[in-house]
Amino acid sequence: MGRILFWVILGFVVWLLWRGAFRAPAPRGSAGAPAQSPTGEDMIACARCGVHLPRSEAREEGGRLVCRDNPRCAAPR
Ligand SMILES: [Zn+2]
Repeated sequence: MGRILFWVILGFVVWLLWRGAFRAPAPRGSAGAPAQSPTGEDMIACARCGVHLPRSEAREEGGRLVCRDNPRCAAPR
């Protein structure tokens, strides 16, 4: 019985280490920071179609940011 418990705990520890190893090399530490484009520009999500795009490629429509020139941008039905 103790042997099974030992392997369960060992597996749990290995799983924790494995998770930690893949989480550690994240490029930016702060998880809550807003996403940015390679140029450092803020990325926003279109209020209509949900596509993420740089702020400079969006326009404001009724107080919401939507795609400026995306012909496929349409409100979900
Ligand atoms: Zn859109």
